Amino acid sequence: MTEPLTIVGSGLAGTLAAVYLAQAGHQVSLLERRGDMRSQTQAAGRSINLALSARGLHALDEVGLKDKVLEQALPMRGRMMHAPDGELTSQPYGLKDDEYINSISRSYLNQVLMDAAEKAGVEIRFEQRCLGMDFDKKQLQMQDAQGQDYIIQSPTVIGADGVGSALRRSLIQRLRVNYSQNYLDHGYKELTIPAGANLQFQMDPESLHIWPRGHFMLIALPNPDKSFTCTLFLPFEGQESFQSLDNSPAAIQAFFERYFADALALMPDLIETYLANPTGVLSTIRCAPWHVDGQMLLIGDASHAIVPFFGQGMNSAFEDCTLLAKAFQTYGPNISEVFSQFSSQRLADANAIANLALDNFIEMRDRVADSDFLLRKKLSLELESRYPEIFIPKYSMVSFHRIPYAQAEALGQAQQELLKRLTAGRDDLAQIDWQAVAQEMQAYAQLAEINSAA
Ligand code: FAD
Repeated sequence: MTEPLTIVGSGLAGTLAAVYLAQAGHQVSLLERRGDMRSQTQAAGRSINLALSARGLHALDEVGLKDKVLEQALPMRGRMMHAPDGELTSQPYGLKDDEYINSISRSYLNQVLMDAAEKAGVEIRFEQRCLGMDFDKKQLQMQDAQGQDYIIQSPTVIGADGVGSALRRSLIQRLRVNYSQNYLDHGYKELTIPAGANLQFQMDPESLHIWPRGHFMLIALPNPDKSFTCTLFLPFEGQESFQSLDNSPAAIQAFFERYFADALALMPDLIETYLANPTGVLSTIRCAPWHVDGQMLLIGDASHAIVPFFGQGMNSAFEDCTLLAKAFQTYGPNISEVFSQFSSQRLADANAIANLALDNFIEMRDRVADSDFLLRKKLSLELESRYPEIFIPKYSMVSFHRIPYAQAEALGQAQQELLKRLTAGRDDLAQIDWQAVAQEMQAYAQLAEINSAA
């Protein structure tokens, strides 16, 4: 067993890491800046619901929480695209019955994890803000709810304090760190489609709804109370932007009438919600290394925040927890080795999912409405059905398998080229040249083999 572990941040990654490590017999304490969400109402604005997929489910399964979490989840089996004239086109996410993603409430999930952490013996201390770490003295610099500064002697710290991480700042001051934070030109705002008059869903609840409009988009995920949480992704500045809407009720109404008329018809409180909810920023954080010897390690958004367009931020943070628990099993009690092995294994994958998430933004807001793109998607599912041993579509590699992200990125690029070649000049699956496909698949099979061996 190792010395006591202190985890900073009882968000999604911090609480799951605490559960994993406490279940493995470590002594774990958690420090959280906010109050206990189980006894407080939640502030709006920070993605009320999330898409949970294979990597997250695997982690929850390992700590025995998958069934409990899925009790409150809603399956989303495909994308439902809403054209400007209201026409709907659906596209399944996967081929198999169990290939769907799950809409889950962030606060429900976090609360289940907190309960499980406490049950496993973890002490969670709320309203304790971490200001940073003094590595020479092995001390966490803290502030309590009354604004009093104090220190905690902490030989081993895991920083799960999210995108604005105070511990990342300490790491950057301590080491030569390659670090970047790139903000997207787009912000986001959460809106709501409430349940209908009959207290039922007003749109298909088994879909993730998308209104792709070129350089901006609206999406909607279902909630158990039969409402949908919508997120508007819009540039901060420019012709159609948060700035141009200028919080003017008339401008917001006109913008929705023009671009999202079918959604607007289902949003009686649009203006109130738009004005009440904050406009969030989105950024990609790349950072290396993630640890200071065996003293401190960053996980989740603190080390690799990504934009939300592949629905993988939480899923990759949960996968961090799985891999970290495994590294403790393999290399503990040598914490330096645990942290450095974990970081070196994980870095390339974190960069890959950051790239994939940025690419998927363009795909969701722009290409999903494009007929060439839709044909390529259809063909990619058809290839999976004809060559199940060789071809797994990129989306499925990321969402329904636990294939390392770097491998999914490399194979995804090869798939894109392949699908473009096979669909060039064609507008229907019936026109595909299956002999050419068979030849292409031989070359692809070799590439897939090389990648899985790498
Ligand atoms: P967080 O969940 O942010 O937790 C950090 C915790 O640390 C918080 O509790 C915070 O209060 C605490 N904290 C912060 N600073 C301090 C401090 N100084 N001292 C003490 N405590 C501190 N991911 C998906 O997988 N699927 C999705 O569909 C998805 N959709 C998203 C939609 C949007 C709009 C956004 C913004 C993100 C989305 N994500 C999604 C990403 C996901 O929310 C994050 O990746 C995930 O929350 C990361 O977990 P974390 O524990 O690292 O950080």
